[in-house]
Amino acid sequence: MKANNNQEDDPFVDDIPGQFQSRFGETFFGECNFCSQKFTGGKGYMINKIYEEGACVYELAYCMDCRGSLQATFSAKSTEVAKDFFPSEDVLRERRLPIMLLGTNKCGQLTSYCIKCKADRYNTPNYHDYAYCEDDKLVYGFYPYMICESCELELYNALSSETIQAYKDFMKKHFGLPPDSYSKKDKKSILFI
Ligand SMILES: [Zn+2]
Ligand SMILES: [Zn+2]
Repeated sequence: MKANNNQEDDPFVDDIPGQFQSRFGETFFGECNFCSQKFTGGKGYMINKIYEEGACVYELAYCMDCRGSLQATFSAKSTEVAKDFFPSEDVLRERRLPIMLLGTNKCGQLTSYCIKCKADRYNTPNYHDYAYCEDDKLVYGFYPYMICESCELELYNALSSETIQAYKDFMKKHFGLPPDSYSKKDKKSILFI
């Protein structure tokens, strides 16, 4: 048996649930929204969905190359701030590993509360979902998680203004994201973390 036929036995891999498909199950994300690189051959990619008032208002997928380029706009200090912002690996492992190993509806459970403040998804109107996928599989680890908007803003505001500016310039220059993706509401963040 080939190793990749063992998916059903691998607790850290699942089919991508509708929650992280494009338009909720209508189709899979097939290519990077930034550079159009196809998601094939086991290349990893990120999915980010933004919810307002409980409804998804924005969804995108981006390859690890683009993610790396984006993260490179972070200063060393801001990278450190972002790293310290999240619960430690030990805390996350303790909270999440039992769900990954034994859970049913694992993805739903892992995104049912804010990774930072544990706010309940269903009592939180505005939040972001993140997942890491390979081909048509969702991979469990640090992802998937949900983060509430106030925690996302807390992180955004903790980053240096130089980092925010470099990040925005980079987005504009390389990806031409519509300006209102991040400037409509001044304090609205779209962070690809
Ligand atoms: Zn890309
Ligand atoms: Zn939170």
